[in-house]
Order: sequence, then structure tokens, then C-alpha cells
Amino acid sequence: MSIVKSLPPRFSEKDVVRFAKELYGRTVSVRCLVSDIGQNFHLTDESGREYILKIANPEEREYMLEAQNLAVEYLANHNRMVKCPRVLKTIAGKQIVKVTGKDNKKYLVRLLTYLHGKFLGDVRPHTPELLHSLGTFLGDMDKTLERFHHPAANRYWHWDLKNASDINRYTNYIVNPRRRSLVEYFLLQFETSVLAILPRLRTSVIHNDANEHNVLVKKSHTGGENVVGIIDFGDMVHTCTVCELAIAIAYIIFDKEDPLEAAVPIVQGYHETFPLTELDLEVLFYLICARLCTSVTLSAYQHNLRPDDNYLTISERPAWALLEKLLEVNPEKAHHVFRHACGMYSPKLQGMRRDKILQAREMHIGKSLSISYQKPLKIIRGAMQYLYDETGRTYLDCVNNVCHVGHCHPYVVRAAQKQIAVLNTNTRYLHDNLVLYAQRLTHTLPEPLRVCFFVNSGSEANELALRLARTHTKQKDCIVVDSGYHGNTSALVELSPYKFDGPGGTGAASYIHKVMMPDEFRGPYKSDDQDAGRKYAKHVKEAISKIHQKNKGLAAFFCESIISCGGQIELPDNYLKSAYQYVREAGGVCVADEVQVGFGRIGSHFWGFETQGVDPDIVTLGKPIGNGHPLAAVITTPEIAESFDNGMEYFNTFGGNPVSCAVGSAVLDVIENENLQANALKVGAHLLSGLEQLKGKHPLIGDVRGLGLFIGIELVLNRETLTPAAKQASYIIEEMKEQGILMSIDGPLHNVLKIKPPLVFTEENVDLVISSLDKILGKESLESL
Ligand code: PMP
Repeated sequence: MSIVKSLPPRFSEKDVVRFAKELYGRTVSVRCLVSDIGQNFHLTDESGREYILKIANPEEREYMLEAQNLAVEYLANHNRMVKCPRVLKTIAGKQIVKVTGKDNKKYLVRLLTYLHGKFLGDVRPHTPELLHSLGTFLGDMDKTLERFHHPAANRYWHWDLKNASDINRYTNYIVNPRRRSLVEYFLLQFETSVLAILPRLRTSVIHNDANEHNVLVKKSHTGGENVVGIIDFGDMVHTCTVCELAIAIAYIIFDKEDPLEAAVPIVQGYHETFPLTELDLEVLFYLICARLCTSVTLSAYQHNLRPDDNYLTISERPAWALLEKLLEVNPEKAHHVFRHACGMYSPKLQGMRRDKILQAREMHIGKSLSISYQKPLKIIRGAMQYLYDETGRTYLDCVNNVCHVGHCHPYVVRAAQKQIAVLNTNTRYLHDNLVLYAQRLTHTLPEPLRVCFFVNSGSEANELALRLARTHTKQKDCIVVDSGYHGNTSALVELSPYKFDGPGGTGAASYIHKVMMPDEFRGPYKSDDQDAGRKYAKHVKEAISKIHQKNKGLAAFFCESIISCGGQIELPDNYLKSAYQYVREAGGVCVADEVQVGFGRIGSHFWGFETQGVDPDIVTLGKPIGNGHPLAAVITTPEIAESFDNGMEYFNTFGGNPVSCAVGSAVLDVIENENLQANALKVGAHLLSGLEQLKGKHPLIGDVRGLGLFIGIELVLNRETLTPAAKQASYIIEEMKEQGILMSIDGPLHNVLKIKPPLVFTEENVDLVISSLDKILGKESLESL
């Protein structure tokens, strides 16, 4: 890829006065204009006629300038409605002439006629009529250029949108990692949704840079404003014709409240003059995004070469804001809107209709699997903290703690793609990924937690943890916390009061001992009791006594570091410290289930147990570890691992395969690079304070709790009696969904709203959640449920 590295020429206004005289025989006054890679001057001669003198960057080729001149000529000869600056000849009859700089390099000079009018960028407002005329103008120009050919236009050009994938090589110049991921996300979509279609699109020579500083507007005789002209053919290239439209839209929607709405009249105008094809419209949205990505990435690259050049960053700031905004746009919606603008009916929905899927599920999927929401959602794409359904709606995802670093995070996707294309075997061969990942993962944990077992789900992790504990202690009995959930296997259903005490459950097995949840809101020891943690832990001691009374010993104590299914219960200070002490005195093993809360989610620490100042003997990891890839792990001490090495092999076909390990490492990279733990802390604090304010306003909120981005809101009908408001919780969840926000319910009384979004969640996202919740909590209908 060739990117212009040479500095712009450095001719003075005096030099230009001399060129005008010597080369063109004109006496002029000169003003220097801003320019990107070349130099532009505004000239006025003695009779007041104006011109533009262009001096090209030394990297620009003469045949390219000739091609541009010919394109302009062609337009002038074939379409009088499309105004472009004409090239004037030197005294010697040349359109392009060489001058020598102080550096002794040769520079190419052209003198152009001056086009009168205002730049579109200097006109406000951009009325729909004006935008429509932009579309018409570009359609008209492209229709004319369709028959223009020049071999030089077939060049490789990094501003050619069909090469957008090559921009990936430059994204590392984007300093801010969050922004880099945003660009890489859209480039990934370009690659997966556009690239394969490009060869089927019609092609022609296009201007390729119809940004608002290149497009000229004039008042028409009826008083309205119309686009009449275009300057600067320096980016001209032979490519997919629709790129012209995509580029114009990418720039014009910068400061628009609703970018799609602003794009409509442009698409309409273009289509009316030069009809777009169905395929053009299919790729238009991601082409627009790809142009913005090219712009910000090359700007970052050039900025690195020329840190003091402010011109480079002119279009950068609004472009970033726009990219963030476009992340919220369901691409399906954009497609519908563009088709509609062209009078095309919306395409048939892709894939199966919701009712058909439901029917098929009835028949082929076990009914014990539940579906969220009264009217189930069909989600077809994910982008960071957003989910898109098939109808064009966007949802803010506040519940998916699995896609920890964001849905379809490009860094993680690329890591998986890269490794799966090379090798995916099992742990019986030597491979770097397994040991490098194990080293990395264990170093996030305190010593002596250094031995890993890789598995495929949280359940498998806890199942193995149970086996480790039982083998190590040679005991079977376990203590678990009420309402806890640790997994779906037979042994783990036995270990999960949430299951064995719930519908279809058969109660606790004789060797499973349940202790009360350390719930300072509903339990006997409240948050104002300094000693609540120790008091709750005493129940662990009692459970141990009962085990001993039966002449049995303790294998393990399983506890989450924040109790999730139990209702997002934060553990009171000293709870685990005391409980672990009792467990260890009894010879048991302390298992921290970090399947839900680990990997920086709680903000203040990487692991939940760290908030309790304890060191578990076994830690189980799942959900966020692979950002949705089926990966989980058990990490323990060499001593416990040694006991487990009793001759029976532990082999796991998929666990620890090179792809899973690549994904796991990528997740750690993203958490680190994007500072997501710190983001969880900051955004979580903002969320908690917003919720506390709502609590002050709405009596239905009994308690707000949690850490970082792991939050619970317990709803009660009465703050004295704590009567659970389960119906209200369900109502709120459904209403929030209608507002485009996905949340869910937890807790044994089904009255705790839980929020645990991907860690890329922003303060703006929080503000939306708070204002939507506020609206719904204020509804009178809520009381009468
Ligand atoms: N432990 C906890 C705390 C969980 O929340 C879950 C899943 N909800 C599991 C274990 C089991 O994980 P998986 O569904 O991946 O088997």
C-alpha cells in the first residue's frame, strides 16, 4: 500500500507570483490556501479574474494528473450541469509544468479556473432539498463518467473503498485502544459483509472524495440552494461506483442528529438520476462506515508522521463521534431505509421468522430451556454493547456478562479466526498457546494458584473443582450457600440450592449442607451490623459441626464472590475470611466460583474474592473468559493438583485447545489494552449513583447493590415488610425491552433487576438506562399490577 509520506511542497507566495508571470504570463496577487498533501494558491490577476494554482506532492505521478485533467475535460464536454475547474495552459501550451523547489526536487504545477460558489461545508442548514441536490449532482456526474476510461484510474489507491481491508495494517497508529477497536469492528464487518459482494458491483471512474469542502453550492433562480460543482479530482479512481455515494454520505452526516435520516435525500437524489442496484444498497451502510474508518486511521497515521499538522485532524473529532453513533445503528435498519429511499420494498426478512423458530424449537429443542421475554427476541448481530434484531431494532445489552469485552470484539474474533485457520487439536500435543495462556492467566491470581485445567463451561469447571476437592480431602460432604448455582451436571445440581430447592428439585442430598445467604438486606444481620460478615460465617461453622456430628469430614465450601442467582448479593466484610478459616480448620477446600464476576467486572479488583482479602484453594472461571467462546478453567494449587494425579487421567477433548487458548489470551489483552477494569469501576460508580438517586425518588426500589458493573436492584412493595415486587420486576424488564434496553431478573423471590453488561459500557449508556428506568418507575400502572 502506498501512503503519501512526502511532505507537501513549500513554495512561497512570492514563488507563485513568479510562476504566474513566467509560466502563464499573468500578473497576480496570491493567497495560500490550506491543503492536505500538496499546495494550493488562490490567484487574482489585474482584471480581477481568479484562479487556483496547484502544486502537487512529489509523490504524485504526472500520468495521474493527466488522467484527472482528461476527466474534467470529459465532464465539461458531456455534461454542462456538472461544473469543475478547467485546466489552463502555460504560455508554452502545456497543462502540466515542472518547477524546481529549494530542495532541488521537481514539482508538478497546474493552473485552474476558479469556480464561484460556497462550499457545502460553509452552508447551513443542510436542508433535505440541498442534500437531495447533492445526490442528484453526484448521480449526474457518475452517470457521465460511466463512459470515461483512463488506464491511470486503475491504480491502487488507499482511499479506494474497495481496499478498506488494507487499512487494518494501520490501525495500530490509533492511540486510543477503544477507538482502535471501533475501527477494527467496522473493518471486520466490511470484510465479512461487503468484500464478497464487491466483485459483483458495477464499476466506473469516480471522483472519490465528494466531501463538503470539495462540493460547491449556488443559489438557484428560485431562491433555493443547489449543488452545482465539484473540485479536486486528486483521489479519482476506477472502483465500485457506489463508493462515490458512500463517501459523500460519510462526510455529510458528521454533525447530523440522525445520520440515516440525513442520508435519505442524498440516496434518493442519486437514485433518481442514476439508479442504484439492490447490491449497491446492500453494502452502502458498511461502505459508509469503512470510509470513516479509512479517514480516521490514515489521519492517525499521517499524524504520526507529522505531529504538528493540524489540517490532518480537522475531520477527525466528529468522525469518531459519528462512528460511535453508527455502532448504535442496526445495519438491517440502514439497509431498509436506503431501499425505501429508492422506492424499493423492504427485502424479505433474512433467515426464519420468529414464529417458525419457535415452532421448530417446540419440536426439536428440549422444553426445559426457557426463552427470555413474553415476545421472544430474534437477535441477528452483536456489536460491542449493542444487539441488533432482524427487524432493524437496536438493543442496549445490560445483561450479557459473557461477551465481556463486547459482542464480536474484533481483536477476539481475529484471534479465533487466525488460530482456527492454522490448527485446532488437543492438549496431547505440545503447543505454545496452552502454556503461554496458563502462565498469563495464573499470574492474575495470587500464589500458590498456579495449576490450570482447561474445560468448556462453568459447569465443567465446578464439576472438576468438586472432583479435585473430594480427591484431595477424601471426603464427600460440601457446604454451599443458599440460592447458589454452580452448574448443570448431576453433581452440580446437587450442589446448587437454586436447582435442588427449585421447581423439579428433590432437596438437598445428605452430603450437601446449605448455609444462609449473607444477605444484609433480607437476612438476620443487616448492613448496619459491623459484624454481619462474621455472624453469617458462623453458619458455616455450624454446618461443619453437623457434618462432624455425623462422623464425616468436609470436602469443600463453594461460594461465589458475589452471589449472582441469589440476587446479586455482595458478601459482607469478613464473610469469606471467617468462613475460609472454619473450612480450613476442618480440613476442607475453599472454592471461589468466579464464573460470573471475574475478569475485572467488579472494577476495584480483577477477581471478586480479592475484595474479601482471602486466597481460595480452587478458583473456577467461565463465562467471560472466552467472550462467548466455550472456554472455562479451574485453577488450583500444586498440592491439590498433585493429589488429583492419582493414576486416573483427566483428559478433556476440547479443553485447552489452541483456538480456545488464543481466544482466552485475546480477552486478557483487550481487558488490559482497553483498561476495561478501570472502565467498569468508573461506569459502575456512575450507574450506582444514578440508581441511588432513583431509590430516593421511587419507593419501589428497596436496595441498590453490587460492585463495578455487577449490579442488583431489589424491588419491594414496602420498605418495612420488604414484600417482594416480583410482578413489577417482570413488568419493568418487558418495558425496558420496549425502550430498547435488555435487563433481566434474579434472586429467589424474582424481584432483583440485574445489570451486568459488556465492560465497554459507557456513561452515556448508563444515562439512558437511568432515564428509561426513571420513566417506567414513574408509571402509575406499575402500582396496580
Ligand atoms: N457458576 C455460576 C456462578 C454460574 O452463574 C453459572 C452459569 N450461570 C455456572 C457456574 C455454570 O456455567 P455454565 O453455564 O457455563 O456451565
